[in-house]
Amino acid sequence: MLLFLGAFALFYIWHGLGVTIGYHRLLSHRSIECRKALEYFFVLPGYLSFEGSPIWWATIHRAHHRHVDTNLDPHSPRYGLKNAYAGWFTKKTYPAHINPEEQAPDMLKDKLYLFLEQGGDWRKAHVLSYAVNIGFRLILLYYFGWTVALASYLAAVLVLQIPLMLNVVCHIPKLGYKRFHSADDSVNVWWVAVLALGEGWHNNHHRYPGSAKTGISFWEFDLSWLVISALNRLGLLDRVNIAPGKQVRLANWKKKTMVQSR
Ligand SMILES: [Zn+2]
Ligand SMILES: [Zn+2]
Repeated sequence: MLLFLGAFALFYIWHGLGVTIGYHRLLSHRSIECRKALEYFFVLPGYLSFEGSPIWWATIHRAHHRHVDTNLDPHSPRYGLKNAYAGWFTKKTYPAHINPEEQAPDMLKDKLYLFLEQGGDWRKAHVLSYAVNIGFRLILLYYFGWTVALASYLAAVLVLQIPLMLNVVCHIPKLGYKRFHSADDSVNVWWVAVLALGEGWHNNHHRYPGSAKTGISFWEFDLSWLVISALNRLGLLDRVNIAPGKQVRLANWKKKTMVQSR
C-alpha cells in the first residue's frame, strides 16, 4: 500500500507538472523558454497523462484565451456545462475558426509535435496518444510490477481531469473570486489551485496569460511556479515572463530574466 501511495503521489506531481509547465505555461503561453531537451522533459509527462497532441492542446487553449467566454470559445460553460467539460473534444477536427496554422504556427516547425498531431485528425491523434499511454504502462508493468503501473495509470487519469475540470469550475463566477475585474467569467478557486498545482488562480491567469507565475498574494500557492523559479535559479531557463506589479522584484533573480506580460 505504501508503495502504491508513494508511486501515485510521485506520478501525480510528474504528470501534473507535465500539464501545467509543459503543455500550458511553456507550449501554450511561451511564458518560459528553455532548451529543446528540457521542453520535451516537461511535455513528455503531459503526453503520458492522456493530454493528446501538444499542437492540438496549445491551439485550443490559445483560442480559449482569444475568444474567452464568447460563442467562439471552444469550452465556455456559458454555452453548456457538458460541452465545456468534455463535449468539445469529442469532435473529429477543429472548428472553422480555430486552426494550428493561425493559433500555433510556432509549434508546426517541430517534427515530433507534427507527428503527434496526425494531420489535425483528432480521433487519430487520440488513438495514437492512448496507444503510447498504454504502452508506457505495459513497460512499467514489466519492469516494476502492477502496483507501480496501476499507480501511474490512476494518477494520469486523475491529472487528465485537471484541465477539464478547471475549464468549467474556474469559469463559473459564484465558485471563486475575481482579483481583476474582467468581462469574462474567470475566477480564482483555491482548491483547484491545490489539485492543479497552481493553475486554479485562473482570473489572475486571464489577466496575465503570459506570466509564468499565477499566484499574486503570498497565500496564492503555485507549486508549478516554485519549480519554474528553481529551474531559473539553476540557470536552466533562457527566459521567464512575470506579470507586472509585486512580482517584478522576483524577476531580478537572474539577469537574463525578462519581465513582460502578454
Ligand atoms: Zn480560462
Ligand atoms: Zn492559459
